[in-house]
Amino acid sequence: MRIFDPHIHMTSRTTDDYQAMHAAGIRAVVEPSFWLGQPRTSPASFFDYFDSLLGWEPFRAAQYGIAHHCTLALNPKEANDPRCVPVLDALPRYLVKDNVVAVGEIGYDSMTPAEDTALAAQLQLAADHQLPALVHTPHRDKLAGLRRTIDVVRESALAPEHVLLDHLNETTVKEAKDAGCWLGFSIYPDTKMDEDRMVAILQAHGTEKVLVNSAADWGKSDPLKTRRTADAMLAAGFTADDVDQVLWRNPVAFYGRSGRLQLDVPAPEALHEGNSILRGGE
Ligand SMILES: [Zn+2]
Repeated sequence: MRIFDPHIHMTSRTTDDYQAMHAAGIRAVVEPSFWLGQPRTSPASFFDYFDSLLGWEPFRAAQYGIAHHCTLALNPKEANDPRCVPVLDALPRYLVKDNVVAVGEIGYDSMTPAEDTALAAQLQLAADHQLPALVHTPHRDKLAGLRRTIDVVRESALAPEHVLLDHLNETTVKEAKDAGCWLGFSIYPDTKMDEDRMVAILQAHGTEKVLVNSAADWGKSDPLKTRRTADAMLAAGFTADDVDQVLWRNPVAFYGRSGRLQLDVPAPEALHEGNSILRGGE
């Protein structure tokens, strides 16, 4: 089984996670830039983070046989902080980099006017750079948030088939599908969406344009939720080809729109800017 996790924050995870992910069949990941928990205080903090997503993290993933790409953006939450917003001016010079396969994650957190502005500006950046967009939908007030997101997408220069609407659930899947967007589902422990509910959604809505991710980060999350969903699909009677479509071919097709996906994992390099993941004596 080959698995592509299209939304996971590996910066927050350990080398043990990389090892377990590879053993579970995960061969490719996309890491969207997002909020760090601790609020950032300046654009410079984003630049070091973006450089890490473009350099150190692919280096680390390659040590475990996993291809790593990223999506870059000002995240919805920090779009509300005037100290962070100037990062938008610097994004164009990052979006031309080889490993960037989308603009993201963008979208709504609390649905404020500042979030409106940042979302519209970044959909335009995606269109300008011929990149798809990864759009986070809010965890509170989900259906209203989804509708407002779809309205902004419709007003943008980016066609819906270049947009992945993420963190969907039973209440939002139908309208997202009718809008012509790609459909992302984040499978979490305990809360929000779990693998059995995901299987029921696949039974009701089919496997076309559906992507499943772990959205694992520094919070309570599980980087193996993609594999657990694949196993739940097989147990429910889906074929190995259905699993391959959802867990591999769909994310390849979506991020492949960037023209930048490199799924052959590069031979691991010993050092990145003089640093390794090893400790003395190894
Ligand atoms: Zn995320």
